[in-house]
Amino acid sequence: MGLCDMCGKQLKCSVRIDGAFVCRRCAVDLRIEIDRLHTEGKPVDALKIAREIFHKIYSGGDFLIRDVPEELMNKALRRADVDGDSLRDLMVRALREYVEQSN
Ligand SMILES: [Zn+2]
Repeated sequence: MGLCDMCGKQLKCSVRIDGAFVCRRCAVDLRIEIDRLHTEGKPVDALKIAREIFHKIYSGGDFLIRDVPEELMNKALRRADVDGDSLRDLMVRALREYVEQSN
């Protein structure tokens, strides 16, 4: 189970469009954008489109985090590798869980 490439939400049921894994709601919007680009004769890369839309709508910015404990980082990277997640996926999940616990 991963996160939607377009909205970043946990995927319960994913739709794969080219290289992008998206939720059903985002799949509709992604197909519309792909069709628009096809109509205009422009190149189509579903994953790139999904990530651009995510960044445009949901991104709070890019961050550099210094002095993360090495042992914690190594454990996180090993777990992410096993689970097929990226470090970004882990950070977003941790932030989401933190925010949801404090409500
Ligand atoms: Zn989505």
